[in-house]
Order: sequence, then C-alpha cells, then structure tokens
Amino acid sequence: MNILVTGGNGFIGTHLVKRLRGLGHEVNVADLIGRGYNLDICSPKLADLLIKLKPQIVYHLAADNRVTGSVKSILKSNVIGTFNVLEACKQAKIKQFIFTSSAAVYGESKRLPIKESWPTRPISAYGLSKLTDELYCHLFEKHFLATIFRFANVYGPGQNSTAEGGVVAIFARRILDNQPVTVYGSGKQTRDFVFVGDVVDALTAALSRPQTAILNIGSNQPTSIVRLVNLIEKLTKMPAKINYLPKRPVEIEKSLFSYEQAGIKLKWRPKTSIEEGLNATIGFNLAGAE
Ligand code: UDP
Repeated sequence: MNILVTGGNGFIGTHLVKRLRGLGHEVNVADLIGRGYNLDICSPKLADLLIKLKPQIVYHLAADNRVTGSVKSILKSNVIGTFNVLEACKQAKIKQFIFTSSAAVYGESKRLPIKESWPTRPISAYGLSKLTDELYCHLFEKHFLATIFRFANVYGPGQNSTAEGGVVAIFARRILDNQPVTVYGSGKQTRDFVFVGDVVDALTAALSRPQTAILNIGSNQPTSIVRLVNLIEKLTKMPAKINYLPKRPVEIEKSLFSYEQAGIKLKWRPKTSIEEGLNATIGFNLAGAE
C-alpha cells in the first residue's frame, strides 16, 4: 500500500515506518526534520504533497507532545495542524486516516481500567487538543475511515530521554549515567506503560482490519513511578538516587487502560512484559553510550 506517515521521524513514527517498510509498503514521511519531506503540518503545501503522493492511508503522528509546551503552541500544532492534515487527506481522497490520540483525553478517571466509552475530561492543554482532534476526525468520516488510537504511556528504544521525553526514557538514561532521578510527588502515582513494539502491532493491525473506531492501547498493568525506579535498578544492577520534588501542577494520579476493544476489533493484545520492554530500552541506551 501507499502510505504517508506524519511525524515519521519521531519516537513511535520511526518504529512504525521501519515496520511498514518491512511489510513491503511504500512509505513516505512528512516531518519537520530528518528524512523525508520536511514541512510543518500547518503548511498549506501539505495538500499539494498529498495530491502528488496519492497515499491510500495516512498515519497522523506529528504532534506537540512536550510536557512544557505552551498552550498556544499545542493548540496550533495539534488542532490547527491536524485540521490541515484532515483537509489535505480529503482533497487527496485517501481511504483511511489513522490518528494517534492519548490517555490524556480521559483526565482523571474515577474507575479503572478505563474503557473507550467512559467520560473524557482532559485536564491538560495536550489532552484537550487530542480530544478536539478526535472530534475533527469524526467530522471527516464521510470522506474516509478514521481509526483513532488512544495510547497509554508508550515507552521503548529511541524515546527522547531529555526532560521533554517520557519517564521511562529519562530514568533509564539517568540511572545508567549514575545521575539522580527526580520523582514528582509521592511516586505512588501509577501509569499503564505499553511497549512501542506492541503499539506498532496495533497501528499496523489497523491496515488489515480497516474501520472507523476509537481504541485504547495499553498493557492493563499498573506500575507506580517508584516501582519503575526499582525495576530499572534491578535490570541495570545500578542503584538509583531519588530526589523528590512536589507533584506537577497538572498530574493524573492513576491511569490504567482496558484494551478489550482492541482485542475484539483488531485481535490485538500487548505481548511485551514491562521487564522485557525495559530490558530492550536499557539495551538501546547502553549501545548508544558506547
Ligand atoms: N515523572 C517523574 N519524574 C520525571 C518524569 C516524570 O516522577 O523525571 C512522573 C510524572 O510526574 C508522571 C509520570 O512520571 O506521574 C509519567 O510522566 P510522563 O511525563 O512520562 O507521562 P504522563 O504524565 O503524560 O503520563
């Protein structure tokens, strides 16, 4: 198939593009930087590019997911940008739009594990931008199928380990470098960590089962931040020094996903245990340090 991936040089995008090419698809990347077509998703040139490339499928991964991103920049990249991508897809007459949304659309859920039908009450600008995007996807449903993935906390090799990245990448890097890690709040907050390889399984399964749907992708396993530190200590055999700082201003206490729908609709399930996934992440970091 002829596929375009926006954000194809990002963390998840890199893994996805590699897999899709391995499966024999023709894959083009649109990203701000790196290989492929370098352009902003807000650019009016995006429609010209899609009309030229004529993809049947568009994976839209490009987004501002920086923890410190300003509300305005998130609104611009994630909402105006996504709308621009959707418009371009309509003009290029694509068949299926695959969108990557987030656990952040739910906000704090009273009951766990979270199902797709549960209330969406984002508490961050990022969560609100992703929810708005999902609603825009629905607006375009008469033009193409829209498969929406809500990801739990994705981790794995290649994730940005600076302060802008995810907690697993940051902790793995710092513990391996003998640097102290910072835990915000008590460290008892829990997340549902899902391995990037499993996430790519779900993204590619959407090709063989094209449909309009909203699907949670997680592990259904809660891991506290303190336990994450302990696991990395055990797997690296390196002791960690923890600095505790106050809780972040916008912080969800507990996040845990039910992936029952993805099981039914995509025959998907996570295959990688947290230990296996952390080992792969640590191995990647060790290789990078040599
Ligand atoms: N976290 C932490 N130290 C860090 C980075 C993150 O204690 O250096 C915590 C953060 O407060 C949150 C959890 O780890 O409770 C997951 O953070 P991340 O930014 O990876 O994802 P999100 O908060 O979006 O779920």
